[in-house]
Amino acid sequence: MTVAAILSEKGHDTITAGKDALLSEVCQTLATHKIGAVVVCKGDKIIEGIISERDIVRVVGTQGPSALDLPVTKVMTKEVITCSSESSVDEVMAQMTKGRFRHVPVVKDNKLVGVISIGDVVKFKIAQVEHEAEQMRSYITMA
Ligand code: AMP
Repeated sequence: MTVAAILSEKGHDTITAGKDALLSEVCQTLATHKIGAVVVCKGDKIIEGIISERDIVRVVGTQGPSALDLPVTKVMTKEVITCSSESSVDEVMAQMTKGRFRHVPVVKDNKLVGVISIGDVVKFKIAQVEHEAEQMRSYITMA
């Protein structure tokens, strides 16, 4: 199964921040949307970086609350690993495991078209296992 299957259920909404956003504004965005990461974009959804709650905890933990006045570009991860709608869900899981992150932006023609989180992947996998178990149950009852 591909990332497209997850996006078709979850939708293509993306929560982004501009390059001039401050960390305090990113915190507000994370809290408002109840999410763990924001993709930093320039122009029309061109990815410049990604910032997650872990980055914010790390910088506030080491520099104190004044770090919230830093621009997002000083703290975000600039080398962003992405996938496409055609990527398999297993590929994305492998990317997350290898890179030790929980968010993967989905791109098309170099533009952000969605974000897959580890929660989305787990939800998808559970639904898949339940579906397979149900099929096995019907197969056994028919036999
Ligand atoms: P997360 O597990 O998503 O909270 O992120 C853990 C760390 O990985 C943070 O430093 C993020 O900025 C970074 N990160 C998150 N997603 C990605 C990604 N797709 N590509 C590269 N780095 C990422």
